[in-house]
Parts: sequence; C-alpha cells; structure tokens
Amino acid sequence: MTAVLEHVLRPGRIGRLALPHRVVTGAMHLGWENRDDDGRSLAAFYLARVRGGAGLMVTGGAAVSAVGAGGPGYGVLDDPRFRARLRRVATEVREAGGLLALQLFHAGRYARPAAGGPHPVAPSAVYSAFSRHTPHALDPAQVEATVADFARGAHHARDLGFAAVEIMGSEGYLLDQFLSPLTNQRDDEWGGDPHRRMRFGTAVVRAVRAAVGPDFPVVVRMTGDDLMAGGTDRDTVAGYARALAAAGADALNVGVGWHESPVPTVQALVPPGHWVPVAVAVKEAVGALPVAASNRITRLAQAEEVLAGTPLDLVSMARPFLADPALVDRSRRGRPVNVCVACNQACIDRSLVDDPVSCMVNPAVGREHEPPPPPGGPPRAVAVVGAGPAGLKAAHDLALAGHRVTVYEADQEPGGQFRLAGRVPGKADYLDAIRYLTAELARLGGELRTGRPVTAADADLLRRYDGVVVATGVRPRRLDLPGVDLPHVLDYPAAFADGALGRRVVVIGGGGIAVDLAHLAGHPGAATPPRQVTILHRGDRLGPRLGRSTRWTVLAELRRQRVGLVPGVRDLRIGPDTVHYTAADGQPASVAADTVVIAAGQLPNDDNDDIVATARRAGVWHHVVGGARDSTGLDAVRAFDQGRAAAVAFQHAPHRTTPPVEIEERV
Ligand code: SF4
Repeated sequence: MTAVLEHVLRPGRIGRLALPHRVVTGAMHLGWENRDDDGRSLAAFYLARVRGGAGLMVTGGAAVSAVGAGGPGYGVLDDPRFRARLRRVATEVREAGGLLALQLFHAGRYARPAAGGPHPVAPSAVYSAFSRHTPHALDPAQVEATVADFARGAHHARDLGFAAVEIMGSEGYLLDQFLSPLTNQRDDEWGGDPHRRMRFGTAVVRAVRAAVGPDFPVVVRMTGDDLMAGGTDRDTVAGYARALAAAGADALNVGVGWHESPVPTVQALVPPGHWVPVAVAVKEAVGALPVAASNRITRLAQAEEVLAGTPLDLVSMARPFLADPALVDRSRRGRPVNVCVACNQACIDRSLVDDPVSCMVNPAVGREHEPPPPPGGPPRAVAVVGAGPAGLKAAHDLALAGHRVTVYEADQEPGGQFRLAGRVPGKADYLDAIRYLTAELARLGGELRTGRPVTAADADLLRRYDGVVVATGVRPRRLDLPGVDLPHVLDYPAAFADGALGRRVVVIGGGGIAVDLAHLAGHPGAATPPRQVTILHRGDRLGPRLGRSTRWTVLAELRRQRVGLVPGVRDLRIGPDTVHYTAADGQPASVAADTVVIAAGQLPNDDNDDIVATARRAGVWHHVVGGARDSTGLDAVRAFDQGRAAAVAFQHAPHRTTPPVEIEERV
C-alpha cells in the first residue's frame, strides 16, 4: 500500500458489503443507457473501471418509472429490454470482481419528457427553471404508488445481480423536492412541516429495505446543503439524515446544491475539497453510519486528506473516473493520473441535454466497447509536430500502440493553448493534463524536443518518418482596427505573460479566451491596486460557446470582479490611452486603457499547409489535428479526440513500401 494513501486505500464496509478501499465511483448519467446493444457499451464502460481498480461503483440513474425518467436517454426499470441490458452489465462486472450499485432515480419536476411522454410530477406544481416545466402535483395515492415504484426498482436491482442500490435523493430530484419547503407546498401527510416533508424520503428507504431484505446494502444519496434561498435548513438536514438511517439506510452519500441553485458546486472555480464540511455535518448527525463526501475531490491525495482529517468514511468521485478509469491503480502505484480538469464540456454539459457523455481529456469514454485498432505490425517511426493537447494526445496514443514517437515543439515548453489556460484562476489542472501526457509519453519511450520548429525546409527530417501528425495549433487573428499597431496593443498569447498587463486593461473579443483573460487580469490579488478590466465585444452574448454548466458561473465571477462587460460595440478605434467605440445604443463612447488585448479568435498556424505539402511530397503518411485542422472556436474536446483519432488512423495506415531515409538530423 502506498503509505501516503493509507486512509483512502484501507478496506471499508457498507452494511454487509466489503469494500476494497474508501473510494466510491459516483453515479454519472452516461446517455447510452438506452442504446440498443444488449448492454455491451454500458458493461464495457464499467469493466474498464473495474480493471483500473475501482471499488464500489454506482450506475447512472435508472428511472423507477417512465414519469421519473430525467429525459429520453434514461433507462426505465419497468422496461424489460433495459433490465436485460442491466443484467448483462451486473453479471459481467460481478464476474470481473467488481461491485456495482444500481441507482434508483426519479427526476420529479426536473424531468424533461420526450415529446408525447408523461408530464413531470412532483409534490407540488412549482415551476422548474432547470427543466422549464411546471409539474403536476401528485395526489396521495400517486405518492404511495411512487414509493412502491422505488421498492419495485430495488427488487429488480437485487434480482438483476447488482451488489447494492443507491437511492437518488440529492441535486434537487424528487426526494429533495419532497423535503424542501420551496417545492413541497402540501399540507397533508406528505408535507406541511419538516417532519412530514421528510416522510417521503424515509418511506422510500423503508419500502426499499423491505423489498431487498435486511442484508442488501442500501445507500442514500442526500443533499447536505441545497444552496437554495429559503430551502432546507441545517437542522432539518441533520434530522433527515438520522431519519434515513433509522429507516434502513446503510450509508449516506452527501451531495451539495440543486441544479437550480445559484452557487457553483462542481465547476473549476470551486476549490477542491470546498464542500467537505457539508458532509462532515451529516456525519456528525448520524454517528457510526458510513458517510461519503463528494463534489470537487479530484485526486486520491485529496481524498486521503479528507479521510485522514475528518470523521468521514468514504469519498465519492465521479468525473475523475471518466478522466482516468485507472485512477485508483495509478495512484496506488504512484504513477501520474489523467486528472479531471472540471471543464464539464464533454460530461455534464452533454448530460444536461441528454447527449452521450465522454471526457475532454479521455475521449475513449463511450468507446470502451469498440474493438481496439489492428496491431499495426512492427513499431514505426512517427513525428508529431506541435505539443499542444491534440499533438500530445496523438503522441501518447501512438506511443501506447508501440510506435517510436518524436514530438517537435517550436516553443520552449509543451502545452500550447493549455499552457495559457493553466494560468487562469481555477484552471491550474490544465497544466496537469499536459504533465500527464508528457510523463506518460516519456515512460512509453517517446521523445519530446522543445524549441525545435518544423518548417517546409524540413523535408529531409520528415522523410525519416513513417507518419507525421501535424498539430501546429493556431495563431491569434489580427483585427484591422485603427491603432492596432500601437505598442500597448497585445495579441492574447502575449497578454498571458508575466507583467504584460497594465492597470487599465481593455480586452477586445467575446469568446472563451477573452473571458479567461479578463478573469486572469481582474481576479483579486492579480495586481495592487486592482486592475480595471473591460471587455468590449461585438455580439450581444459574451462567451456564447461556453458550456451551460459553466458560463453562468464564469460571468458571475467577472461581475464580482467588477469587470466591465460591454456588448454590441462597433467602430472600434484604439488611441494611445483610450479605446473609442460606438456603443449598442449608437452613441460614441470610450474607455481608458494602458493595455489593449485583442482576443478575437484565431487562425490555423501558417506552417500547417507547408508541413502537409512537404510530407505529401515526401510520400509520408500525414494527418492534421486540433486547431491546425479547424480553428473555429477553439475546442479542446475536439482537439483531444482528433489526437486520439490520428493514432487510430495511423494503425490502419498501410506500411511504407520504401524505407524511411536515414539522415542525421541537424538540430
Ligand atoms: Fe472532467 Fe472535463 Fe472530462 Fe468532464 S469532460 S470528466 S469535467 S475533464
């Protein structure tokens, strides 16, 4: 056992279920639960995590009734085809030595029904800004029937061969809706005071316990703090936790916040471990009952700190197991981990619209069932030009496939756009994503040569290789504005450098990079006295491509930092200490500026076409990835996936008929 992970790697227990360690893989709706493939892709997803050392895993929510499904992509336990898929998943995981709990789910007023599907139901008819529906209020008989739905779902779980069940009662779903005075406005046996509002949750636990018997592990996912003004108070939460324990829960998994709450809970801006005290309060309420903390715990070292420094028993981590299925095994061996950077771009943002989930830094998520690429014969030599995310991902996967990989990077450091992003407050983990890829590349025998640009003059160099991946990235787009050549006008990469910014900063541009730069320039502690930062952008919506789960938190942070956000500007003109423009109302306006940063998009790097042409002339297989391929709205999810795809494509590429030219490289 790795000494520093002593607490987290200690065996644990939930009821009669022995756990190999203290990390629970939290539930994630994957969006392919309903895929008509006999459960093959679902099973492959969990099996990959079993092989990587996961202990108890919890499935994404399985709806206990059609009306409880979160959206069209949810599986419904009444559907025998879904149950058949689940049986395969449970069986394969069990036979592989894994532990899988089925999450019993009812969205209540958060359901987003398919066209023609049942209308959402809830304790009271209170509109949900999350689902944009006003649900029907359940009558008492329907409440009883819903309790019975949970019991039937639990019975199925046991029958299908799952190791446990988790009742979904957090994030503002149905159990929370009964508990909260905001959404439970009843005055009958199911509402009217805290005691009656708790009754639905405890009735569900009792019914589930009765359905599965005394020995089957029952976990309840509950909300420790709903972060809703006028929501459930702390005393009620503590009393509810005790009531759930008394009703038969074997463990409590503590979530934080509702989907409608105005406080960020899982975004990169939230410091790791921020919500641990919420779980500690629940633990203090229930004494010996196992309690798990969750939300913004991304590394096992952090989990170790939680377990060593608090009375908590378990840590639940969800997204980190998307980023690295072997999170536990790698951490146990002291190897680098592919860290979740909390971008939400390929997971939560997709899940919110019921699209299949993947992971930015691990685009293999959702492809675990696909056959591996053909072996590709003896190792071949591949050059990767550019060490940004796309290039490094391609290099990593090529090296993993056994090829001899050399990465050429023009800058002195690898990382490309991620190196810039890593400077933004809350985004330091982007640097770890690069560190992971470079460390793994080195371990696999790949070579990284920094400070070595490759140009059209390098035909001899490229001829040495069997393949070339062109990942030269992007260059900032110049704007043709009066004053753009003044010395205090910077393009965005230059603006990220230490000491580049003056006290009054104007950022011209409305995309994600402009937002990041404003955040970096304006965050507390960035400068004394604090900088005065203004974003001028042409459109009416700042950061239009930022994800649904992230955009509102980032904009709220900019407002908190008093960054001026000026939409709809025209006729920009830069003077020595002032930027002039026409405002959205047609009036002339200006803002003082010591530094003006142009963050108005990007174009593929100039070298790109030259390298491709050179590789083509030399008869070398080549593939263009990332920003070099498509610079419209820089998209790191796309970049990683194209890096992955390039490595797969090379495996399929025919071998060269002429041997690579052996030429001594002149560096
Ligand atoms: Fe983490 Fe982003 Fe991957 Fe989601 S997509 S698991 S937030 S790195």
